[in-house]
Amino acid sequence: MAKTFKHGTHPPENKITENSPLVEFAVPEKLYISLSQHIGAPAQAIVEVGDSVKAGTLIGKAGGFVSANIFSSVSGKVTNIVTLPTATGGEAKHIEIQNDFRYETVSLPEITVPTKENILERVKEAGIVGMGGATFPTHVKLSPSKPVDTLIINGAECEPYITCDYRLMLEKTDEFIEGVKLLMTALSVEKAYIGIENNKKEAIELLAEKCPPKIEVVELKSKYPQGAEKQLIYSITRRVVPTGGLPMDVGVVVNNVHTAYSVARAIKGEPCYMRAMTVSGDGVEKIGNYFARTGLTYKFIYDECRGNVAEEVTCKVISGGPMMGFAQANLKPATTKGTSSLLFLSEIRISKSDTTACINCGRCGMGCPMNLLPNEIEENTLHRNFEEVIKLNVASCIECGVCTYNCPAKRPLLQAIRLAKRIIKEKGLK
Ligand code: SF4
Ligand code: SF4
Repeated sequence: MAKTFKHGTHPPENKITENSPLVEFAVPEKLYISLSQHIGAPAQAIVEVGDSVKAGTLIGKAGGFVSANIFSSVSGKVTNIVTLPTATGGEAKHIEIQNDFRYETVSLPEITVPTKENILERVKEAGIVGMGGATFPTHVKLSPSKPVDTLIINGAECEPYITCDYRLMLEKTDEFIEGVKLLMTALSVEKAYIGIENNKKEAIELLAEKCPPKIEVVELKSKYPQGAEKQLIYSITRRVVPTGGLPMDVGVVVNNVHTAYSVARAIKGEPCYMRAMTVSGDGVEKIGNYFARTGLTYKFIYDECRGNVAEEVTCKVISGGPMMGFAQANLKPATTKGTSSLLFLSEIRISKSDTTACINCGRCGMGCPMNLLPNEIEENTLHRNFEEVIKLNVASCIECGVCTYNCPAKRPLLQAIRLAKRIIKEKGLK
């Protein structure tokens, strides 16, 4: 029977690209490679205007332990260093590269005898981050300060629309499994689970057939947010991560499917500058799964994919999934290691109803996988009663958006929660 967690919701899956094989995305004349493609300190630029680069040239050096190296994704010349908006609403320095369309590459030396030490070093050197969208530097995650006995690979892909991890599991199966084994060696664990939602039967069957016994494929119920770390750990192991705790507190490290695949590529010598990405929605014609280089502007992707869809049809662009992704104010941001998906949606896909008063129906709390009371958090946030917001355990919110999705009054609950968290942090309240 498919394993699961308590509460959550089941939005329409809309996995309309699930049968589209991965193909390489077009590449523009100019690319904009962000120095902030990860959680943590931005990388420091180590190239100057006029420098020649190849795909795989280190152009940004990690700016601290919680940071990651950045590489050029094409060969060409550095033409500028500019500040541009990011998909998450901030700004970051970007290296502008004029593509010479020669696609010359530079690789790291292949590691033929992987060990715990050289895998960890290579993951750091190759700039690998959590490729599910979280973008936490993987070398930090692979260095837990507490003993762990279990690796969980997140193959849930529970966000609607997104299908790139599914395609990786189907099309890059051997490299993906190799990546899981490398992660196990890096963590010195003997057991790994790959959790996959049961709307991906083909991947479950294929991996169950190909994985060795120490890597167990676990069928999960299709339910959002099945891929959230705490929910995934509970579904698979029944271990409960304590409030304010981390997966390592219950002996677990969680990595995403794409991260495992990227680790396998890095051991062969390829630094992290290309990723699988889903382009979907009814606002463009050429939907599909693509291998996209970092540094492609969203405008370039839109222009490549729009086809015969009139410009006025596309009225919302989301970077990431519709539940946890970021709506875009413009198409200036460029793809990063964390860009798992770009959704272009028409008006009929967007909820148009206005926000009305809370009717105290309790649906937001009933769906909350962390057992919170989102309506009370929102109300206290609006009244700036942050002591009460803290007591309501706002810190436990995993920002899954289930409450907002379930609310019949269309209350912006998640937005209020994010605001409350930011103010509490800024004010240093406890
Ligand atoms: S309160 Fe947080 S954890 Fe609970 S449903 Fe809302 S966003 Fe998700
Ligand atoms: S779901 Fe919406 S209307 Fe219902 S209690 Fe929560 S905030 Fe109020």
